[in-house]
Amino acid sequence: TVRTRIAPSPTGDPHVGTAYVALFNLCFAKQHGGEFILRIEDTDRVRSTTESEQMILDSLRWLGIEWSEGPDVGGPHGPYRQSERGDIYATHVQKLLDSGHAFKCYRTSEELDDMREARKAQGLYAALKPEDLYLDADEHARREQENWPHVVRMKIPGEGSCRFNDMLRGEIEVDWAQVDAQILMKSDGMPTYHLANVVDDHLMGITHVLRGEEWINSAPKHILLYEYFGWEMPALCHLPLLRNPDKSKLSKRKNPTSINYYKRMGYLPQAVTNYLGRMGWSMPDEREKFTLDEMMANFDIHRISLGGPVFDLEKLTWLNGVYIREDLDDEALMRKLMQWAFNEEYVSRILPQVRPRVQTLAEVMPLAGHFFAGLPNLRAEQFDETGMTREQTVRLLQFLVWRLENLRCWDKEALLSEVKLLSGYLEIKMKSFLAPVFIAVTGSQTSTSVMDAMVILGSDMTRARLRHAIA
Ligand code: ATP
Ligand code: GLU
Repeated sequence: TVRTRIAPSPTGDPHVGTAYVALFNLCFAKQHGGEFILRIEDTDRVRSTTESEQMILDSLRWLGIEWSEGPDVGGPHGPYRQSERGDIYATHVQKLLDSGHAFKCYRTSEELDDMREARKAQGLYAALKPEDLYLDADEHARREQENWPHVVRMKIPGEGSCRFNDMLRGEIEVDWAQVDAQILMKSDGMPTYHLANVVDDHLMGITHVLRGEEWINSAPKHILLYEYFGWEMPALCHLPLLRNPDKSKLSKRKNPTSINYYKRMGYLPQAVTNYLGRMGWSMPDEREKFTLDEMMANFDIHRISLGGPVFDLEKLTWLNGVYIREDLDDEALMRKLMQWAFNEEYVSRILPQVRPRVQTLAEVMPLAGHFFAGLPNLRAEQFDETGMTREQTVRLLQFLVWRLENLRCWDKEALLSEVKLLSGYLEIKMKSFLAPVFIAVTGSQTSTSVMDAMVILGSDMTRARLRHAIA
């Protein structure tokens, strides 16, 4: 039976690209009466977090994407988290070493860098050659004896090329000369993506790998690994990457890429899933609005077009409006609103912000409106009142967005220390520094505390408003 998977790395926000690839995997599997599973690829121990994993699972579920095996629901091929499968990878690396398909590489990164530099100095192409990775036999033996740190690399054929078939692109040919001796296991004993991905796809019975186009270059290495292990290769299908309207790769610098943002902005999950289904794919009758069940029933991978699908916020917003008007009666809309923000949990976080600032209940909504809104309507003159020039404002907000994009923990303390650091660096007093931030985040000069607002609004909405203010 057909088995597909999504294999996200929990290293950040839940990405719309992940949801898009998951959706197509789910539809492909269901259309063939097969299974769709979820595996967490958290071999990067520095960047992976449990919070990110949880957000990815929650976001996919919110969109209606369900898996039959995974770290949360279990299944016969577990564990479904790569960090818990260390022994499996160690055994498999050993097999490749024993069969001579992989080798221990004792070259230090300094040595490799020196070789690259030396080549550059001679005006040569700086890339390493396969022979660079080997030491002479005596030196290899000495380092092995002395237990030097080492990595394990896969061997690559010295000549010829790798041919493979992509379900959408047909035959692809890559010269082995262009493929490097990929590290399979790092010096700390952790596997790399390539090894863990191939071993797990095989052990988990994956028959079709549908993944982003950015992995095409990895295919030859994976194919070779399957060959080395003597395993049957799953079918490969590389999906076109999502694009910004200017056709560049969709990226958070230009477009919100976190599912959390769409949830926070009040998009309906059915509309987002429907829109993702239109990324490079269409229903046989070309209709724009369809449910997940309809997509599963009508899915045909050959209807995917390779011209980069544009993720267009305006179109998504239009479609979302259609869903609100056509699919929600007053009662359903009321329920949605309550789930979204008009609930005790959320409102009770806002009350402490407004209490000291109101004299009548009627003043609450005007003051707290920005907590129930998306991007504020800003006028350029609002920023003039801060006494800063437009350049200064843009620079300040831009720096802040960059810093906040890399903030791992979104709480008041962390935000405050970022703001302090940046105002010190830019040599602007804290109060002046916060003035434009205040306007960008809350939409007006006179509102609730901006630092608290940032905490309550969350990272996605805050960053979107800061970016909106300088757009
Ligand atoms: P950004 O440019 O927004 O920072 P990124 O490439 O750094 O994005 P990652 O965090 O590396 O994003 O990727 C998270 C997941 O989203 C990966 O599985 C990746 O394949 C997928 N992804 C990222 N960008 C796209 C895209 N444009 N189209 C489809 N999938 C994408
Ligand atoms: N962990 C990889 C990612 O985050 C999986 C790629 C694949 O599907 O092979 O994109």
